[in-house]
Amino acid sequence: MTRHPRRIRDLAVFLEAVYLRFHRSATVSEDPLSIPSAYGDPLDREVMGFVASAFAFGRVSAFMAKLSCVVDRLGDHPAARMAGLDAAGCREVASGLRHRFVGEDEIASLLLGLSHVVRGSGGLEPPFLRGFGPTGDVMDGLESLVAELWPPPEPTDLPGPGFLVASVRSGSPLKRFNLFLRWMVRDDGIDLGLWKGVPPSALLIPLDTHVDRIAQHLGILPRRRSGPRLAHAVALTRALREIDPEDPARFDFALSHLGISGQCRGRFHDAVCADCPLEAACRVAVGGVSSRSR
Ligand code: SF4
Repeated sequence: MTRHPRRIRDLAVFLEAVYLRFHRSATVSEDPLSIPSAYGDPLDREVMGFVASAFAFGRVSAFMAKLSCVVDRLGDHPAARMAGLDAAGCREVASGLRHRFVGEDEIASLLLGLSHVVRGSGGLEPPFLRGFGPTGDVMDGLESLVAELWPPPEPTDLPGPGFLVASVRSGSPLKRFNLFLRWMVRDDGIDLGLWKGVPPSALLIPLDTHVDRIAQHLGILPRRRSGPRLAHAVALTRALREIDPEDPARFDFALSHLGISGQCRGRFHDAVCADCPLEAACRVAVGGVSSRSR
């Protein structure tokens, strides 16, 4: 178990200040959440939320450009379109698309898996709940969802979605899955609140590089050179639960956008840190200030 070395309650006032500044609906346009938010139909929001979260790796501007191609090809009613696609149709939609090391075969496989889940279960929440319901553990829900997503019942020569659908028990922080769950479960005018069978208290923080770095700056997570693991997401969520037991993931959007916005560059910068709500608590800023003679 990873322990958080700093008393989280001492940080509550700072985290609330970040929440107030960055948890704003105007910021959604710079976030992959803008993809599912653009649809009115709940099932369209759900399937496009899954697609958007699956693509959410690498630079935001790069994956948003790729996502806009997928959005254009699926049209105004993507859930209905997907439900009508066979493997050949999925290949056609994904033809020529690539995002970093993920190619058109993996993208077509993702679409085929979603097509199967929409036709077979009417959406993604039922297969998630089949795993989550008995234990209340999101990992069990994700495992159940992924098992229904791939392989599809009909034989196909598509290779599977590969990196687009993470392996649930790999020990990775599962940022993209947890991002999707945050969008589906939380309901505050920013997150979509479509799934009523999962309480926000069960969510894990979608630990991206920005949130991970800031949690280390605050001393919530221990400093390290390696990337985040699932244990770090669990530890940060447990710490934030001490501030908000019912909704620990509500700080995620704000902390992430402190980084995405470019305000936090991960190192001391006089003018930038002076304007940051975390300045008095951040070990990087406190070190920077103390090294200056003022
Ligand atoms: S004080 Fe500076 S380094 Fe610390 S979180 Fe804020 S912007 Fe980042």
